[in-house]
Amino acid sequence: MLTEERQGVYQTHEVKNQPTPLENYNLYLEDQPLREAVERHHASWMEDRLRAFGEHIGRAEFLELGNLANKFSPVLQTHDRFGNRRDEVEFHPAYYELMGTGIAAEMHALPWNRPERGAHVARAAIHYLLSQVEAGVGCPITMSFASVPALRIQLEVADEWVPRVTSTKYDRRVIPAAEKTGSMIGMAMTEKQGGSDVRANDTRAVPVGAEGPGQEYLLTGHKWFVSGIMADAFLATAHTDNGLTCFFVPKFLPDGTKNRFFMLRLKDKVGNRSNATGEVELLDTWARMVGEEGRGVPTIIEMVNHTRLDCAIGMASVMRQAVSQAMHYCAHRAAFGNTLIDQPLMQNVLADLALESEAATTLMMRMAQAYDEVREDPEARHFARMVTAVGKYWTCKRAPHFVFECMECLGGGGYVEECNMPRLYREAPVCAIWEGSGNVISLDMLRALHKDPQTLPAFLAELDHARGGDKRLDAFLDKLPGEFAGLDGIETRARRIMEKLALALQATLLMRFAPDYVADAFIASRIAGDHGHEYGTLPKNTAFRDIIDRVRPKTD
Ligand SMILES: Cc1cc2nc3c(=O)[nH]c(=O)nc-3n(C[C@H](O)[C@H](O)[C@H](O)COP(=O)(O)OP(=O)(O)OC[C@H]3O[C@@H](n4cnc5c(N)ncnc54)[C@H](O)[C@@H]3O)c2cc1C
Repeated sequence: MLTEERQGVYQTHEVKNQPTPLENYNLYLEDQPLREAVERHHASWMEDRLRAFGEHIGRAEFLELGNLANKFSPVLQTHDRFGNRRDEVEFHPAYYELMGTGIAAEMHALPWNRPERGAHVARAAIHYLLSQVEAGVGCPITMSFASVPALRIQLEVADEWVPRVTSTKYDRRVIPAAEKTGSMIGMAMTEKQGGSDVRANDTRAVPVGAEGPGQEYLLTGHKWFVSGIMADAFLATAHTDNGLTCFFVPKFLPDGTKNRFFMLRLKDKVGNRSNATGEVELLDTWARMVGEEGRGVPTIIEMVNHTRLDCAIGMASVMRQAVSQAMHYCAHRAAFGNTLIDQPLMQNVLADLALESEAATTLMMRMAQAYDEVREDPEARHFARMVTAVGKYWTCKRAPHFVFECMECLGGGGYVEECNMPRLYREAPVCAIWEGSGNVISLDMLRALHKDPQTLPAFLAELDHARGGDKRLDAFLDKLPGEFAGLDGIETRARRIMEKLALALQATLLMRFAPDYVADAFIASRIAGDHGHEYGTLPKNTAFRDIIDRVRPKTD
C-alpha cells in the first residue's frame, strides 16, 4: 500500500542539490563591470532607465520569452490560400514582444534620437542586456540602428525614412510604411557567388528614367542571406554600368502597392533561430539609388561599421549570460562535500571565465564610446576605425569556446535544451561569420592601416594611456609596432596581429579601469604568457574569489 503523499506521483526521492533558475534578478544592477563602464564613458544620465530595464527583462516571465521565441521558429508564408503571393513571415508572439521591448528602449535609435555624449555607450548597454534574454532580436534591431548613417547620405530617402526608423513604437504589420508607427530596415548584400567579396554581386540595376543618386531604378537578381527579412525596407547592393552601387529597396511602392520582393525560403540555421534569415529574388524590383553611383561599398560601409560594433556587443552579451549561468550553478551545487564555487580548481575556471567576460564587456563599451567620440571630434575616427575591426574580430572569436566552457560548468544539465546554455552555444559562432568573417576583418584592419596612416598611431596612443603601470604590459606594448615593421608576409600574419592588438587593448583598459587584482590576473595569463590553452589555467597566486565575486550575479 502506497502512503497518501506517494500515491500517483511515483515519488522515489526528494529533489535536492539542484539550483533554482537564474531569474528575477536585475541584469543591469548585478553587472558591476557594465555599470562602471556606463559611468566611466559618460552615460550616467541613463542610469535610471538602465536600472528599470535590467529589472524588467530579468523577470522570469520576460526571460521565458527568449525560450519561446526560439522554440517556435519563424515560418515563411510565400502565398495565401488562394495562391496569391504573400511574402510574409509569422513569428511567435514572444518574438514580437522582445522586438517591441528593444525598440521602446531605443536599442535601435538612442544616439540618433538623443545625440548627446554617452548615447552610443548607453545604447550598447541596452543591446548587451536585451541580447542576454534572446540574441535573435539583436540582428534586425542592429540593422535598423546601423542603417541611419547610410540613409542620411541620401537626403530625400532620409527625410522620409529616418523618422520612421527611429520611432520608438514597434509596428509589426506588413503594410505600407506610411501607415505604420515605426519601420525596420535590413541589409541585402550577400549573393551565392560572393559574400565577403561583395563586388562579385550579379544583381543588376537599370534606371527607370533619370540616373544618379536619389533616382529610381529596377533591380534584378537574388540575395542569398537576408536577415530581419520582415523589415520594411533594405539597403541592397547592385551593379549599374558604372559599378557596384547602394540602393534603397522598400517592401511597398510609393503608391502603396507591393514591391517585387519575393521570399523563397528561410535558412535553417544552427542558432539565431528566432531571427528570420531568408533568400530573396528581385525581379524589376523598385529601388532608389543611395549615395554615388559606383560607390556602393563606401556607402554601405557606413552601415557595416555600426553592425560590426554590434557584433562585439552581441557576443560580449552572450558571454555575460553564459558566465552568469555558470556562476549561478556553481554557487548552488555541491560535489564531494563542498559547493563547486568553493573548490580550488573550479575557482580557477570561473575566475578565468570572469576575466574573459569582463575583458569582453570592457572592450565593447570602449568601442561604443569611440562612436560617441567621433561625433564630438572627427579626428577620433582613426581609432574608431581600428577598434571596430579589432574588437569585432576578437570578441566574436572568443565567444564559442567560452560558452562551451561555461556549459561544462553546468555538467550534464548544461547540455540539455531545457536550460539556455544550448541556445547560447548555438548563437556564439554567428557574429564571427557575419559582417566580415575572421580573415576578412583581419584583412580589413590591414586595409585601414594602408589607406589611413593615422589609424595605427591612434590605436597605439590609446594603449599608451596605461604605460608605466605594469612592466610586463609595457614590454608587450614595446614590441607591438615591430609587428608592422616589415610588410613581407603581413597578410599571413594578420590574425596573429589582431590577437595581439586585442589583448593589448583589453589589458590596458583593465589596467586603467578595473581593480588591480583583475588587471594583474589578466596580464599574468594573457600578456605575460602564463596561460594554458584551456580555461582554468590561471597562476596560483590569482585573487580567484575577488575576481569571481565581482562578476557573479548575486541573487541570494
Ligand atoms: C545568420 C546569418 C545572417 C546573415 N545575414 C545577412 C544579411 O542580413 N545580409 C547580408 O547581406 N548577408 C548576410 N549574411 C551573409 C554573411 O554576411 C556572409 O555569409 C559572410 O559575409 C561571408 O560570405 P560568404 O558566406 O559568401 O563566405 P565566403 O565569402 O565564401 O567566405 C568563406 C571564408 O573565406 C574567407 N575569405 C574570404 N575572402 C578571403 C581572403 N581574401 N583571404 C582569406 N580568407 C578569405 C572568409 O573569412 C570565410 O571564412 C548572413 C550570414 C549568416 C550566417
